[in-house]
Amino acid sequence: MDRSKLAESFALDNTATDIIEIKRRIKYENELDKGFRKKIAESAHGEKLYGCIQCGTCSAACPVSHYMDYTPRKIIQMVREGFKTEVLNSSTVWLCASCYACTVECPKGIKITDVMYALKREAISGGYKHKNFPASVLASNFFSQVLNNGRNSEGPLLLKIYLKTNPFMLFKNMMLGFKLWRRGRISMKTEHIKDKKALKKLLQSMDNMKEAAVI
Ligand code: SF4
Ligand code: SF4
Repeated sequence: MDRSKLAESFALDNTATDIIEIKRRIKYENELDKGFRKKIAESAHGEKLYGCIQCGTCSAACPVSHYMDYTPRKIIQMVREGFKTEVLNSSTVWLCASCYACTVECPKGIKITDVMYALKREAISGGYKHKNFPASVLASNFFSQVLNNGRNSEGPLLLKIYLKTNPFMLFKNMMLGFKLWRRGRISMKTEHIKDKKALKKLLQSMDNMKEAAVI
């Protein structure tokens, strides 16, 4: 039964439906991802993550914390508790400007900026997208272009990002793109290096070295 029908059948008023909504945001212990904090801590060289005392210095030092849906202090706690989906869907990860103010000020020496980078990588590899921040789409397409071709091609990259995030913006900026193209400032050609196979081999050997180091 959907929520509206449920509310109707129980003759619930607005307050009651709000309560249902609030209850739906509560997570049970078994819904949390307990391996998440370990993964992030390992990826961000951040075993110190476990020592956070929730003092809030990082949030106070952060120049953009007012615009984040969860402040850096909250993000650290949510990572430790295993709120993976909420963290990776949050705007915080994409708003972080990597200024390192939080890392410098943290009394427990937690590398919060590295944690933010680890979360960005995790969000990109897990396909998490934030509707207001196309940065994850930009990053994943940029990486796949560089991995496959050894070079970045701005024109095709922009086209892909617009089509995947906001096709209307493509029409809006079409004239500007055309002017840039006419002046030779942007190209629609896919650039690539001569020896793509050698690049793949090199990257593969780096992956193998990383795996061996973990084992
Ligand atoms: S400044 Fe450090 S110890 Fe304090 S809340 Fe932030 S991460 Fe935790
Ligand atoms: S590194 Fe990111 S989270 Fe830390 S203070 Fe700067 S913007 Fe805020």
